[in-house]
Amino acid sequence: MKNLTYISILLFIFSCGTEAQKTVTDYAESITETELKTHLYTYASDEFMGREAGTQGETLAINFLKDYYKYTGVSGGSTDGSYFQEMTVTDRSGNSIDSYNVLAYIEGSDKANEVLVITSHLDHIGVEDDGQINNGADDDGSGTVAMMEIAEAFIEAKEDGNGPRRSVLFLHVSAEEKGLLGSKYYTDNPIYPLANTVANLNIDMIGRVDSLHIEQPDYIYLIGSDILSEDLHEVSERANQDYVGLTIDYRYNDPTTLVYEFGRWRENRYYYRSDHYHFIKNNIPAIFYFNGTHKDYHAPTDTVEKINYALLEKRTRLIFHTAWEIVNREERLTLKEDSEIPSDD
Ligand SMILES: [Zn+2]
Repeated sequence: MKNLTYISILLFIFSCGTEAQKTVTDYAESITETELKTHLYTYASDEFMGREAGTQGETLAINFLKDYYKYTGVSGGSTDGSYFQEMTVTDRSGNSIDSYNVLAYIEGSDKANEVLVITSHLDHIGVEDDGQINNGADDDGSGTVAMMEIAEAFIEAKEDGNGPRRSVLFLHVSAEEKGLLGSKYYTDNPIYPLANTVANLNIDMIGRVDSLHIEQPDYIYLIGSDILSEDLHEVSERANQDYVGLTIDYRYNDPTTLVYEFGRWRENRYYYRSDHYHFIKNNIPAIFYFNGTHKDYHAPTDTVEKINYALLEKRTRLIFHTAWEIVNREERLTLKEDSEIPSDD
């Protein structure tokens, strides 16, 4: 008995020792293409019926996310520890829709009242009149599963005693496809004060390669990183240089850069076109992670077998490393003094 106690004490010390030595790289490596693929093959399957806000497909999606976070040990981030933020929103045709954002939350240690919000949209555009399902594997299944893996990496770190200093909110917004309604609802009705929200990392389509990068597919577009905060841009650049090494394409940082979409050339305006917009509007610095559009954009052909999972893994790790630095650095990200809140008028 005595020997056994001795051995278990030794084992305990040993296990503490190995855990203390784990680094951010170890946690990043828990984000794997295999797991991303497994999640996505469920999330973007026909069963979820295109995940349109206000439909049964959305109900399946939000319950899938809730069950995942419960199983993974990540708490609910809405009121009273719930995973859901219920909302009634109005679509472009004036219809009222009952919809839900999903929130998971990892509380920080010594700077817990400061919050990093990571977003992706859980909804997509549903089923076509002829019955074809829009699975939205890239849009935005890719961002959704990236967030699931980032949350898992953070909770593993926390369980080892290496939890984040600031808190992280994993905010899966709905009704994005109906006009960024879930992110607008959250920023109009924030669960955590916007004044304490240090940044937003928004992930919307990161699993594909666009026609401009077929020869060199190890890229990602970053939009907005230096617009409100130089700190944010530097953190992001360093995370990429030190750990990931993707080619970062900043061409769409200029909203007037032309893009060929819907059969014609037009200004990209991506800075205003996904959920980060509602954070930027509230003077919260944000980065939009994006692979560009492709011919399957908003079509029933945006399917799981077309995703580049090795690349999705790399891009997800970049976002994780950036998030890790934002929540663990000593100083809160500072805003530019002359930063102007953008207007989409
Ligand atoms: Zn999208």
